[in-house]
Amino acid sequence: MDIRTTLSTDLVEDARLAEILANPGFGTYFTDHMFTVEWTPDAGWHAARITPYGPLTLDPATAVLHYAQETFEGMKAYRRDDGSVWTFRPEENAARMVRSSHRLAFPELPVEDFVQAVDALVTVDQRWVPDAEGEKSLYIRPFMIATEKFLGVRPSQHVTFMVICSPAGAYFRSGVKPVTLWLTTEYTRAGRGGMGAAKTGGNYASSLVAQQEATAQGCDQVVFLDAQELTYVEELGGMNMYFVYDDGHIVTPATGTILEGITRSSIIELAGKLGHSVEERKFSIDEWRDGVSSGAITEVFACGTAAVVTPVGALKWEGGETPAPASTDLTMRIRQALVDVQYGRAEDTFGWMHHV
Ligand code: PMP
Repeated sequence: MDIRTTLSTDLVEDARLAEILANPGFGTYFTDHMFTVEWTPDAGWHAARITPYGPLTLDPATAVLHYAQETFEGMKAYRRDDGSVWTFRPEENAARMVRSSHRLAFPELPVEDFVQAVDALVTVDQRWVPDAEGEKSLYIRPFMIATEKFLGVRPSQHVTFMVICSPAGAYFRSGVKPVTLWLTTEYTRAGRGGMGAAKTGGNYASSLVAQQEATAQGCDQVVFLDAQELTYVEELGGMNMYFVYDDGHIVTPATGTILEGITRSSIIELAGKLGHSVEERKFSIDEWRDGVSSGAITEVFACGTAAVVTPVGALKWEGGETPAPASTDLTMRIRQALVDVQYGRAEDTFGWMHHV
């Protein structure tokens, strides 16, 4: 893919950038540039460019604004102590976007074009990648939207893929603490044949009211169950789940309707290397409640790009609550092992890191 680059003449000043990187928060500040490439049936992917970051002008009839034909990804670039910048398994995000694209009736963006686009933008904006200290990173948000000006319900004949970046601070500012979860039986996020396995905005729109319910109940995040039987654990609004048993084996839900995280699949490999067998299977909410009560489940944790790994504490539901599992030892070991690979502090035996 040929990428034309037009550099900004209005870069954020160094002093201001230092202030932002000292305390970036999440998703608030954006880098100086953005990547765009467009697709039409006749020309395929074309007009790849990096331009100064700025607002889009969209016709009010643009398809994505009405029918939500869109997919996105979330990944990070990490700076090592030697100053070099690396991404974590970017081709896995690219492959997931291809899978999401199929579900959303989008054209495929080749994996190598996705990785090239991310590399090119991160290279141009590399001064925005924070130092490793305090688990900071540059959050990367690739997304694909239906940009045809047409109100008919059919796959858009004009598609735009973009990448933007935003510096991110540590997810846990005052140290890693177990999160409290709310089990919703009012809302589900994905039914059979639906979009649960795709990373598409509608899934997040539908999760908001459940998250509001969780917050109102004094919990940090919401747990979704399967839509058919309200029996099997699916995932959180933006993280996958893991359950650790006292004999060392680990279970992670697999239902066909969850978003399969890159962190989740990395942990399957990593836990194996640490000598734990990992089962991917349906996992019922009763197994969770009974397992924690009896002590058979010693740890519960959630994982995703944003928080890497977070221990899970109490689970609450309408009329009940199960206490926090006994331990967080393996959770924290897995977390540290992943973070060490991401920041280049441990040998990358899996070949996960990609030098930008
Ligand atoms: N589930 C959902 C619904 C998510 O939004 C995410 C975040 N992308 C995850 C799981 C975790 O995926 P990953 O490890 O790739 O960040």
